[in-house]
This record gives sequence, C-alpha cells and structure tokens, in this order.
Amino acid sequence: LIEIRDIHKNFGGHTVFNGMSLAVEEHQVVCLIGPSGCGKSTLLRCINGLEPIDGGEIRIHGERMTGPGVDVNALRRDVGIVFQSFNLFPHMTVLDNVTLAPIQVLKVPRAEAEARAMELLKRIGLEQKATSYPDRLSGGQQQRVAIVRALAMDPMIMLLDEITSALDPELVAEVLSMVRDLAREGMTMLLATHEMGFAREVASKVCFLYGGKVHEEGPPEQIFGAPREERTRSFLRQIV
Ligand code: ATP
Ligand code: MG
Repeated sequence: LIEIRDIHKNFGGHTVFNGMSLAVEEHQVVCLIGPSGCGKSTLLRCINGLEPIDGGEIRIHGERMTGPGVDVNALRRDVGIVFQSFNLFPHMTVLDNVTLAPIQVLKVPRAEAEARAMELLKRIGLEQKATSYPDRLSGGQQQRVAIVRALAMDPMIMLLDEITSALDPELVAEVLSMVRDLAREGMTMLLATHEMGFAREVASKVCFLYGGKVHEEGPPEQIFGAPREERTRSFLRQIV
C-alpha cells in the first residue's frame, strides 16, 4: 500500500534520512520506534506531503506521491494523520470538527456527513459530546475525536504520531484501545510510538529507525524478543 524507496531528507546540513526504505502492506499495523530525533515524525510528515523529500520516492497504491505535479490534496484525502497534541479546532463543536473535511473536501451533504460522524462518535461513546467544544473534553476524549475526525474521511491508511504521549497515564488506555479496535477491523496504520508494550501487542511489523534508515525490522516477537542488531538491543535496553 505504501512504498518508501531510498528516500533522502536533510534539514540544512542535518541528514534525517539517508536511503530510508520501508513498505506497509494493506491491513498491516507498522510501528516505528527509535531514539528521539531519529525521524519518526518526519517520516509520517513526508508520507502525508507535509514535508518535501530530497530524493527517493514514496508511492501509495503504486502512485507516486512525491515530486512535481503531484496532487497533494488527493493524497491527504486518502491518508489520515493524527498528531501528538490534539489539534481539534477549538472554536468548533466536536460534530463540526468531524464533519468539516467531509463536507468541504469530499462534498458530502451535511446531513449525511453528520449522520456518519454521529455513528463514529457513538462507537467511541462520545455521541453525547457532539455539540460540546473541545475544551469541555478530557485529553483522551479529544484525542479520540481527533482519530474519528481522520476516520471520517475514510482514509486508506492512518498515520499516528505518538498519539498518547501528551496524555495523562490514565487516559492513555482509552486511546490505545481505540487503535486496537481499528487494527482488529483491518485498518492499515503506520504509527510512531514510545509505547513498546502496545507496539508488541498490535504491530504486524516493527521498524527500528536509526542512522537515517530502517536499521532493523521484523515481527514484534523478533524485535522485542530477539533483536539481531546491537543498536536495537541497546535502544531497547535503555527504555525498559
Ligand atoms: P521524537 O521521538 O522526539 O518525536 P522523532 O523521531 O519524531 O523524535 P523528528 O521529529 O522526525 O524525530 O526529527 C528528526 C530530526 O530532524 C531531528 O534531529 C530534528 O531536530 C530535525 N527536524 C525535524 N523537523 C525539523 C525542521 N522543521 N527543521 C529543522 N530540523 C528539523
Ligand atoms: Mg516525533
């Protein structure tokens, strides 16, 4: 579904990707792990077209998503992204947050968009918050609404960047359980996470980013149970 081939990315003189390659197949949940600054967020931003790359290519469904003449809007329609800090629009109700893009971008009739939004909110038990403003919601609720907002676009894939790291520990579980449900339903996801226990549980594949590349990748049992690379081992040793 997503193919990242030999991408290069520099910020000024600083090299973030130096021939990074990575594939995400349909229905896979791929977890990106690695030290702070290794490029997890940058990779997700590059896939979503928020950040240009300096070399290599990114294909989604075989279609080139990088380079001149690419329809970034079409790309963003298919690729949902949720960030660490909830970026709901504070001046809009929950329902308006969720229906904005379907109405404006997909031209879905309002009534239909609202019905679909209510259905999604119901699934996470927040339908009674539809007319509330984001500041009336807990962090965990806001983050779940942010996920629902991305889902409302019916994306082919969801990119999730440390979606629990700004949350109080007691709120992390509800957001993770929502991601777990999505995984079970077959949603293709690429997520950057510091939650190793969670990665171990939901990932089809874990990629350890180091040195501008995927340094080691494999099923979670391998990466967490018997990592082959010394760098992977020392990273995992440091965080547990
Ligand atoms: P963390 O685990 O802390 O979230 P990360 O793996 O997500 O880290 P990135 O945010 O992708 O790391 O950053 C990768 C590198 O690129 C870092 O060295 C960072 O300082 C640099 N970087 C990221 N965005 C920019 C930018 N807009 N301008 C300059 N440098 C940047
Ligand atoms: Mg990051």
